[in-house]
Amino acid sequence: MKFKDYRISKDIKKAIEELGWSRPTDIQFKAIQPILDGEDVLAIAQTGTGKTASFVIPILNTLSKNANKYNTGGVSCLVLVPTRELAIQIDDVFREVGKYLTFKSMALTGGVDQDPQIFKLKTHVDIVISTPGRMFDMISQGHLKIDQLKTLVLDEADHMLDLGFVKDIKDLMRHIPQKRQTLFFSATINKEIKKVAYDLVRNAIRIQISPKNPVAKNIVHSVAFVEMDDKRFFLENIVKEHSDLKVIVFVRTKVRAERLVKAMERVQLKSETIHGDVDQKERFAILNRFKSGENKLLITTDVAARGIDIPNVGAVVNYDLPDVAENYVHRVGRTGRGKEKGWAISLCSEQEKSFLKEIEDYTGSEIPVYDLSKSDYQSIVDDSEAGDYDWKSLIAENDLWAKEKKK
Ligand code: AMP
Repeated sequence: MKFKDYRISKDIKKAIEELGWSRPTDIQFKAIQPILDGEDVLAIAQTGTGKTASFVIPILNTLSKNANKYNTGGVSCLVLVPTRELAIQIDDVFREVGKYLTFKSMALTGGVDQDPQIFKLKTHVDIVISTPGRMFDMISQGHLKIDQLKTLVLDEADHMLDLGFVKDIKDLMRHIPQKRQTLFFSATINKEIKKVAYDLVRNAIRIQISPKNPVAKNIVHSVAFVEMDDKRFFLENIVKEHSDLKVIVFVRTKVRAERLVKAMERVQLKSETIHGDVDQKERFAILNRFKSGENKLLITTDVAARGIDIPNVGAVVNYDLPDVAENYVHRVGRTGRGKEKGWAISLCSEQEKSFLKEIEDYTGSEIPVYDLSKSDYQSIVDDSEAGDYDWKSLIAENDLWAKEKKK
């Protein structure tokens, strides 16, 4: 089935065509029709599967069909998400798919001045994509009116529960109409998530995408066994050999992220890092530079990267293996998005082999090992430009030390 065969507005079809999408992805194929039919949906789908458009397309279509009926002053659709980045990303998809429609959407998140948001809400907004904190602020101040809500979407519900938003989700129910459509999206499912989901949805259509193997199929996975101290040489090699690719590198801690930026600088590779200590404004600027390709090497921790959608990421490098297997899926989901091809390479040290095993158990598939002979390994280390640097700095340090001793 192609998008042109769907019974949706031609304005939406035109926008989809301009985005270069011709066929729906798996989740879109399964979710669009039930959502158009007004059903509640409970979907287990990861980022990178096209899940955002799977609700954006039918929501926009329903809004455009009912434009006269719905235009009562309040917000028609509320999308609740765990992070600011995700809110902005989803807002972008609403704008892109709805570019030939007249609906107004906005990302309503904390961390930024609220006056421009209040101003915008006053001018009437149809679709609000919000994080819980700012949403409640706006409701309590009377700026956000959701008593006319037609559709509620919860995206990355599992992450919202992880962040402790379960009470917020329950509180929200007091503010919205009982009669509504609810779409519940989560990357993973367990007892607690099921309980929250079933409190919200009614007779939901259940959709699950690749339950056994949540990793997108158009990603080539590989793992190389590398000593902890040699990892930077291998990253240098990967980046220099594939200088046309945008690469996201995952490290375990903020300190390691900062150190790696410096190590890359020493081998003439420009990179930037986002992690918990980088402030929000700076994070957006860094993400935008990476999106535009001005900077092609982004070093990040798991927390900072969750939910971000950046097109054309050629490779994800697990510089440190994640200690929570599920994070492997979230990390590699940054590449091979939609129908693009992607590459996920993990640098695994002796100490991390148990993490590798957990990842393979979780995804149900073995990661192919990158076959490196001893001489290949050595030449990657020897070819590093850091070799010269380290040698020179070592001599300099020794000289200083010798001088100190003579004194
Ligand atoms: P998501 O899972 O919503 O984060 O989407 C992942 C990526 O897939 C985004 O970059 C979308 O632009 C892209 N995408 C969504 N739907 C399609 C489609 N039908 N064909 C090709 N790419 C798509």
